[in-house]
Amino acid sequence: MMKQTMEQSKQLIDQLEETHVLSKEAFISLINSRTPELSDYLFEKSRRIRQEHYGNDVYLRGLIEFTNYCKNDCLYCGIRRSNKNASRYRLTKEQILSCCDEGYSLGFRTFVLQGGEDSHYSDEMLLDLIREIKTCYPDCALTLSIGERSYASYKAFYEAGADRYLLRHETADPVHYSKLHPPSLTLETRKKCLMDLKNIGYQVGSGFMVGSPGQTSAQLAEDLLFLHELQPQMVGIGPFIAHHDTPFALEESGTAELTLFLLGLIRLMLPTALLPATTALGTIDPLGREKGILAGANVVMPNLSPREVRDKYLLYDNKICTGDEAAECRQCIDGRISSIGYQVVVDRGDSKLGGKKNV
Ligand code: SAM
Repeated sequence: MMKQTMEQSKQLIDQLEETHVLSKEAFISLINSRTPELSDYLFEKSRRIRQEHYGNDVYLRGLIEFTNYCKNDCLYCGIRRSNKNASRYRLTKEQILSCCDEGYSLGFRTFVLQGGEDSHYSDEMLLDLIREIKTCYPDCALTLSIGERSYASYKAFYEAGADRYLLRHETADPVHYSKLHPPSLTLETRKKCLMDLKNIGYQVGSGFMVGSPGQTSAQLAEDLLFLHELQPQMVGIGPFIAHHDTPFALEESGTAELTLFLLGLIRLMLPTALLPATTALGTIDPLGREKGILAGANVVMPNLSPREVRDKYLLYDNKICTGDEAAECRQCIDGRISSIGYQVVVDRGDSKLGGKKNV
């Protein structure tokens, strides 16, 4: 494929701003012909669009990593079942509620329960937990990020009060998906889960890793087109970062530069999306989260997990914030966000796109 001239690339960005989608070929050529000048051109637009919908506000999500047990064996992930060196933990209901309690007093109005796929937590236990959290904090949104479950479980969680669900598609290319996951996991099932979640009424978040081993620009273009088709309320993307105890230990990590470019494109494609500046982005680049906000992101997800377990939820090497207390993370984020002219707000931070439960 011919490389685009700068003018042609800028025209494609203008077109994306207007029509919110491009052909696969156009996405590929934009990705391949990106330069610092083109990124600046893109970020000016993505920042402006974010501003139109969300002003200078940055929403907080308090992440509670409640278990690092996982029945899955994703090749990239540090808490995969086969990693015998991982030191496993589970939080009790009381510990989780105390994270929420601390989070609430620190101004969090969304709690994200994230974990490995851990069957220790039955539907009944999770339903009880969801009801308790929503009763204690009726003004807060509750997000689940606990992987693939049945339609019936998703529906029951939603009816018990869960508002949102994060489930990244990881890659929209079935062959690439099979290189990142064991045969028991398929892209088809992942997509079905996402459709189920949407149909039930959750505000849905999907997303992918940038720079996962063997990933091509064509696959990234597929990721963008899949997101356009799904129209999720949230999109989480972050660089792949190698973990020393996985089959991908020696693989090169993704870059902040490409992650930021893709964040900018996603803001143009889904103007009202909630886009986190992820922890992985802050890990690969010390100013990654600030740069993410300046590329169009509008969410940050500080850690609310108890300090004793932080370094055990090690999805990848050198993960940041593992030694901090929740209050330190909160303060640090405040400073980082205000240093670039934005403000963290005490708000549920719902998507402007809607979802049955939006308030
Ligand atoms: N089990 C749930 C699931 O699979 O959706 C939630 C936990 S899972 C560990 C959360 C996310 O971590 C995944 O969607 C994946 O994109 C990300 N992740 C895992 N390993 C990673 C790595 N080595 N580098 C970057 N991100 C990673």
